[in-house]
Amino acid sequence: MSKRVTVIGGGPAGMMAAYAAAINGAEVTLVEKNEKLGKKLFITGKGRCNVTNDCEDDDFFKNIVSNPKFLYSAYYGFNNSALIDLISRYCPLKTERGNRVFPCSDHSSDIIRAFEKMLKETGVRVLLDTKVTGIGDGLVSISRDSFKTDSIVIATGGLSYPATGSTGDGYDFAKKLGHSVEEPRPGLVALCCEETDCPDLQGLSLRNITFTLKETKEERKPVYSGFGEMLFTHFGISGPVVLSASSYYSSKLSGKRACACIDLKSALTENELDERLVRDFNKYSNKAFRNSLSDLLPSKMIPVVVRRSNIDPDKKVNVVTREERQNLIRILKNFELTITGTCPIEEAIITQGGICVKEVDPSTMESRIHKNIYFAGEVLDVDALTGGFNLQTAFSTGYLAGTSAAKN
Ligand SMILES: Cc1cc2nc3c(=O)[nH]c(=O)nc-3n(C[C@H](O)[C@H](O)[C@H](O)COP(=O)(O)OP(=O)(O)OC[C@H]3O[C@@H](n4cnc5c(N)ncnc54)[C@H](O)[C@@H]3O)c2cc1C
Repeated sequence: MSKRVTVIGGGPAGMMAAYAAAINGAEVTLVEKNEKLGKKLFITGKGRCNVTNDCEDDDFFKNIVSNPKFLYSAYYGFNNSALIDLISRYCPLKTERGNRVFPCSDHSSDIIRAFEKMLKETGVRVLLDTKVTGIGDGLVSISRDSFKTDSIVIATGGLSYPATGSTGDGYDFAKKLGHSVEEPRPGLVALCCEETDCPDLQGLSLRNITFTLKETKEERKPVYSGFGEMLFTHFGISGPVVLSASSYYSSKLSGKRACACIDLKSALTENELDERLVRDFNKYSNKAFRNSLSDLLPSKMIPVVVRRSNIDPDKKVNVVTREERQNLIRILKNFELTITGTCPIEEAIITQGGICVKEVDPSTMESRIHKNIYFAGEVLDVDALTGGFNLQTAFSTGYLAGTSAAKN
C-alpha cells in the first residue's frame, strides 16, 4: 500500500513537496487555505518571479543569511540546476543580470501553471479553500472534518504579506508538537531612520554607494557592508542594498538603534574627492557654497549636505577653508543615519526566525521530536538575500521533505 502524505500549504515549498512525494510513490493530498495555489509566488519578483539564481553552489550558501549549513543536504539533493531542468520542461526560463532566473514570459503565473500541471500529472489531490486547523496522531483536521495520513509536511510559510495566506499557522502546529520557534522577525525590509533628512530626501535614489551598518558609530567592525543602490523614503531608507542590510540588522541587532554610514562617492578615495572638490570650487569660484555642488551631488542632496557641513551656505566658495573642505569630504564619504528599527513584518519580503533547525533532521527535513512530521520552506528558521535564493530554499527543502515523507 502506498504511503499517505499530506502537505499543508500550497506555496512553492508545499507544491514542490507534494510533487516530490508523488513521484516517489506516495498518495498525496495538498491542502491550501486560499482559493488558489501560490498566492505569494504570484507577487514574487514584481510579478515576474525570480525563481532561482543560476550561481555556483558556493555562492548559493554565501547568500543564505540564517543557518546555511542546515541547507547542505537539501540544496545538494536538489540544487538550482535540478530546479531549472524541472521547471523548463513546463515553462521556458531565462537568466538575467546577477544570474537571476525568470520565466521567459516574465509572468509568475506561468510558474504557478507549471506546478499545477506537475501536480495534475502526478495525481496529487489538491484541496483548495481548505484551512488545516490542527494536526496530531496521524490525523489532519480541517474545518468540521478530519482525515488520516501517514506523514505530514508543514509548508505554511512565515508571517510576511499575510494577505497571501502566510499567517504563521505552522508555528502553532509545531509548538503544540513541542517544537521551539525562533522569534519571527522581518527580513528584506525597509529601515526606519531618526533623522529628519529622510523625509527631505524622499524619492531620491542613489546608485553606486557603499552602505555600511554598524552597531554604533565608533564600532569598527560592520554588521553589513554592501555596494549598490538605495532609496530615501518618508520614514527612512529602502532599495536593494538596504533590504540586504536589513536582514543582518534583524538577525544581529533587532530592535536596537544602529548606525548606517553611506559612502556617497565610493568610486573616489578621499584624496581624489578632495582634488575633485578643488576643481569644482575653482569652476564655481565666485558662487556661494550652496551653489557649488551641482556637478557632484543630486539636487535634493545638496541642501542636506550643506546643512551637515556647517559651512555658511552663502559663503563664497573661493574662501572655503581646507579644514571645511576636509569636513565636507568626511560627510560625503560617511553620510550617517541612525537606524531605529525596521518596517513591520507584514511589509517584509521574508520572515526571519521560525522552526528551530536544531530540532529538524537536515538530511530528511523530519522533526527530531515527532516522527512523520516534516518541515519545508519559510516556516523554518532559514532565510536568504534577494536574487532567487529564498525560492530556491523553498524548492530544495520542499523536494527533500516530500521525498523523505514518501520514502521513510
Ligand atoms: C513581495 C515579495 C516578493 C518576493 N520575491 C521573491 C523573488 O522574486 N524570489 C525569491 O526567491 N523569493 C521572493 N520572495 C520570497 C518568497 O516568496 C518566499 O520565500 C516563498 O514564497 C516561501 O515559500 P513557502 O512555500 O515556504 O511559503 P508561502 O509562499 O508563504 O506559502 C505558504 C502557503 O501555506 C498556506 N497556508 C498557511 N497556513 C495554512 C493552513 N493552516 N492551512 C492550509 N494552508 C495554509 C498559505 O495560504 C500559503 O499559500 C518574495 C516575497 C515577497 C513577499
